[in-house]
Amino acid sequence: MNEAPKHKPNCEGQEPTIFDFPEFAPMAIDICVGCKVRDWCLRQVDPAKNFYDGVAGGHAWHDGRVQRRWSDPDTDPIAQAYLGTRPKRRGPIPINSPKVRDFMVGKIAWNRLTIAERQEAVHRMAKQGVPQELAVNATKLPAIQVAGIYKNTTIKRTEGNR
Ligand code: SF4
Repeated sequence: MNEAPKHKPNCEGQEPTIFDFPEFAPMAIDICVGCKVRDWCLRQVDPAKNFYDGVAGGHAWHDGRVQRRWSDPDTDPIAQAYLGTRPKRRGPIPINSPKVRDFMVGKIAWNRLTIAERQEAVHRMAKQGVPQELAVNATKLPAIQVAGIYKNTTIKRTEGNR
């Protein structure tokens, strides 16, 4: 993870939110056209495993699935490689990583974590009642993805903490 791309990504310098929201998907996919690091991009995101929401590697993904409304993975061997077996249940990623623990107490920065570990950190933040915007800022995951994790996390808070 965290390997450097061998070429400049087409999206470098673009507004990142274009890649987060479905209404901008066609625009983001256009930016991906001809990008020389699509394979690298999909290796970083690994959409199916990470339930990715947003545009990556020239396709729009929701919950780790390609949105065929905008692109067809059947004609794209690069995207095919990242459409592998999905875990059956959505929920906390049972990685229990010591890196996530270190991140949660501020010992290491977000860029030392894999995407799965960042998602696990968001899940823990949701459980702890950390405001969603803080989780987005801290993990640098797309806001839509963080919102999805918050929605799918059972927040065990007492009445007094609400
Ligand atoms: S393929 Fe990935 S790195 Fe390239 S422009 Fe699209 S989102 Fe950016």
